[in-house]
This record gives sequence, C-alpha cells and structure tokens, in this order.
Amino acid sequence: MAHAGSVKGYDVVVLGGGVAGCVLAARLSEDPGRSVCLVEAGRDYGPRDGGWPRTLLDARSLPRDHVWERHAAAHRIRARIIGGSSCVNGCWNTWGAHADHADWVRAGGGRWSARAMEPFRLAAVERMGLRPVPESEFSVWSSAALEAAGELGYPRVDMGTSGTPGYGTPLINSFDGLRWNAAFAYLDPARERPGLTVLDAALVDRMHIVRGRVRGVDIVRGGERTTLAADDYIVACGTYGSPAVLLRSGLGPADHLREHGIRPEAELLGVGANLSDQPGVFVPLAPTGALEAALAGKEAAGDLYVSRMLVRAASDRCPPGSWDLHLLPVAGPPLFGSLPPGRYEAGISSFLMKPASRGRVALRSADPTEALDIRPGFFSDPEGHDLAVVRRGLDLVGELAATAALGKLVRPPGGVPATFTDEEIRARTGTYWHPVGTCAMGPADDPYAVVDGTGRVHGVSNLRVADASVLPTVPAANTQLPVLAVAELLADAMRTEAARS
Ligand SMILES: Cc1cc2nc3c(=O)[nH]c(=O)nc-3n(C[C@H](O)[C@H](O)[C@H](O)COP(=O)(O)OP(=O)(O)OC[C@H]3O[C@@H](n4cnc5c(N)ncnc54)[C@H](O)[C@@H]3O)c2cc1C
Repeated sequence: MAHAGSVKGYDVVVLGGGVAGCVLAARLSEDPGRSVCLVEAGRDYGPRDGGWPRTLLDARSLPRDHVWERHAAAHRIRARIIGGSSCVNGCWNTWGAHADHADWVRAGGGRWSARAMEPFRLAAVERMGLRPVPESEFSVWSSAALEAAGELGYPRVDMGTSGTPGYGTPLINSFDGLRWNAAFAYLDPARERPGLTVLDAALVDRMHIVRGRVRGVDIVRGGERTTLAADDYIVACGTYGSPAVLLRSGLGPADHLREHGIRPEAELLGVGANLSDQPGVFVPLAPTGALEAALAGKEAAGDLYVSRMLVRAASDRCPPGSWDLHLLPVAGPPLFGSLPPGRYEAGISSFLMKPASRGRVALRSADPTEALDIRPGFFSDPEGHDLAVVRRGLDLVGELAATAALGKLVRPPGGVPATFTDEEIRARTGTYWHPVGTCAMGPADDPYAVVDGTGRVHGVSNLRVADASVLPTVPAANTQLPVLAVAELLADAMRTEAARS
C-alpha cells in the first residue's frame, strides 16, 4: 500500500454506501450548502441505466456476486456495492410490532416510538417505491399458502405496518422482475448535485481520533492510501462493517484492541457485541408432479418467485398481540445448489423474529482486508428460549402443511414434516439475513451503549453510526424497511441539529 495522499475537506463524510448510506448521502446533500462525500468499498455502476450487472437487477433470485466473501457460510453474506445489501436481497419489506419500539425508546428516547417513526417509515415506503405483490407474481404454491393460512383462521393483515399476527404479502421493491435498490431510489435523484461526491472501490480502514474528535479517515483506493477530512463523520458500513471500522479506530473493548496492536481511544464495550440475527429452519416437503409442472410453466413465463406470502405467528412465549415467528412457504429453484431442469424445492421455513441469543463481531487483525470474526450465536441463550420458540414454529409449519390447500400439492398428501431433535434443528439452521445490534444505542451510563438516540458515538463529538448496527434489538420484521426508516430518522435529527447551531 502507498502512503497517505492528499487530504480533501467535506462537511460530512458518510462511510459505507449501503442502504443507510444512500439514504444519508441523499438526504444530507439536499442542502446545497453542505458538501457530502459517500465512500463505498464496492463498485458504483452509476445511475440505473449505467450498465448494472444482470445478476443484481434480477429480483427472482439472490445473487452471490458483489459480496464480501463469495464462498463463506450463508450468515456471512453481505453486499459490497453501492446500494449495499438492497442490491442482493429478497426485496421483501415488512414492519415490526409495536412492542419493538418499547426497547428502542428505552435506549434512544421518544423519537424511536412507533408514532414518532411513522413519518420516516412513510418516507421510506414512498422513496423506495414499495408496492404490494402483483397477482401475476403468485405461483400456485403462494396462492395455496394464502388459502391455507385463511383455512387455519389467521386474519389477513397489512405487512407494511405494525398490527397483529396474521397472514399476508410483503411490500416489494421490485418491478417486473427488476430489483429496485436503494442507490436507484435515493442516490440517482441526487447524483447531479454539486455538493455530492461518491467515491467507490474505496475501502475504509480507520479514523484518526484526537482528544475525542475525529480528525480524518484513511481510505484505500486503487492501492493508494488517502486521508479524508470532514467536520462530521458518519459510519454506515452495516452490522458487520461498522463495528470493524470503529474497532480499527481504537473505539471498543480495550483488551481486544490491544490484542491487535490498536491503541484504545475510548473504551466502548458494546462495539461488536450484542449481534442479534433471526435464525430459521427450512422444512422440506416433496412437491407433487402437478406442482412442479405449474412451477415450470411459471418459470418459463419469467414470473417465478420462490416466496410471495408470509404468516406472522405467535408462540406461547410471545407478548399478547405481538408475534415472534415468520412462517414462509417457498417453492422454486433451491436458494443454494441446483436441481435438474423441471425439478423444484418446496417447503416452509420458520424464522425466529425476536431472538434472546446474542453473537458478536470481532477483528482477526488490524488489517482492513482481513475477513472478520463473525459469530451469530444462534440458540446460545442459556434458558433455551430460542429453541423453544423455533420448535413451536415447526409445529405451526406442520399445521400449515397439513391444510387442504397446501396438502394437495405435496407428497404424501398433507406432507406431515419430520420432527427434529435439538441437534437437527441446530444443524438445519439458516439465517433470514437480518443482523443488527453491534453498535447499539443506549444511554451514556450504559457501558454497552455505543451511540445515543441520534446516532452520536459516546465520547466522540463529531462521529455517528447510522445503520442497522445501532438497533439494540431486531424488530419482528425484515430489516430493510426499518433500516431505511432509521437512516431517514437519523438524517432528520442531524439536519435539525445543524439548523439549530
Ligand atoms: C442475502 C440477503 C438477503 C436479504 N433479504 C432481505 C429482504 O428480503 N428484506 C429485508 O427487509 N431485508 C433483507 N436483507 C437485509 C437488508 O438488506 C439489510 O437489513 C440492510 O441492507 C442493512 O442496511 P445497512 O445500511 O445497515 O447495511 P448494508 O446495506 O449491508 O450496507 C453496508 C455498506 O457498507 C459497505 N462497507 C462495509 N465495510 C466497509 C468498509 N470498510 N469500507 C467501505 N465500505 C464498507 C458495504 O460494502 C455495504 O455497501 C437481506 C440481506 C442479505 C445479505
């Protein structure tokens, strides 16, 4: 690597051009008097018509390119591209339960209540162009699953808002098979602004912190090391990337930092701790020939999506009126691996939405190119709460599979799924890809709190974190829409503060 190059000054530097980073860069550059630099490790293919790879645009499958570690375990998958994980994700958008906000208000104050967040949820829905699933995208399987949930007595609910348990369809950010990512939605309308600079293929290494203020950030681009300077710094590198940047900058548990030769600048025990993700178990069911033929027809027409409906379900451990499970009937080409032409996978996943277990993210070294040590900690809670809820979810999967509507599409009819031992559940566990919590917000007297309710890092005056990592607990939802709303909220808090000063 070459030595530090020129220093350029901006008002704000946003580190990480993912879902939250695109929102922040777009919202903060609305003020023509503010210069904003957005720094992203992955490629920026420019505006929507700028030659984006087909894999990223095709909303019918989850691409494995443009990620940090192509061949890593599934839970490590995260995008490395402008637009972040919205370029590789399932385009599903749901909102969590009212109960989620209670945790967030305790940690960050009144602006995190359901009512106070509503304008930001609405702004995100509008700017991302989220819309209901069109009828043409339902396969025989998805339609039967809707009928099956009704057959079991679940009420139909709106998945884009809080509410009650029930079944329904997500809001989607895809149009005729095109995945509409956060860069298209937020950055494209802002790209021509003179105050906005986008630096792609630029890896953030570390910030320089002197007496409680960030003085610059080192990035590596094309083998050249450069230090960028700004008045304010916002880290938005995601739940895995943000704690890594903080740790390399000397913000974190002092012992861990010293172990890697990093000088501690502030002891923040929560950096990298409290990793919370939603594990799930897929229950395979054998599709009938008729189901496979119907799926083949749909695929030939270009309209096959593996899942288009979900059930919000409650275990007996869930607070009244809320839900702690998502049941997802899926049918189509397998997510990983392949089957011969005309053969498909069918089944139902049970996802644990409010896990008690916690994992962690840590450094393996101070080298920013080295893979991180990521431990999701699935089912590690000593009371066994998480296993008990997933087990209840599997019972509910059995009930869904045994309905008249779905039962006739699988072999044997009613396809009662196997019962799994605890060990089998652990072995079959996958992720819903909704990690949060590694730079959790909380009051300054909580030793594990990393940021306050406006994203400001405790003990560092001009530094914020603003992405999925600040949520202390995961919502009972898919996280893209909540993270969009979090970034809208934090951008608003920053603009309000700036207007006052
Ligand atoms: C495979 C997959 C499927 C998913 N499916 C869904 C779904 O269907 N619905 C849903 O709601 N949610 C889904 N999610 C989750 C959703 O995409 C995330 O919650 C959301 O993207 C989080 O936004 P973020 O801004 O915190 O992080 P990201 O969007 O991941 O953005 C972080 C950005 O920071 C960049 N970065 C990281 N480190 C550095 C560094 N050192 N230097 C420079 N740049 C850096 C990354 O390259 C990335 O672009 C899925 C996620 C994955 C991975």
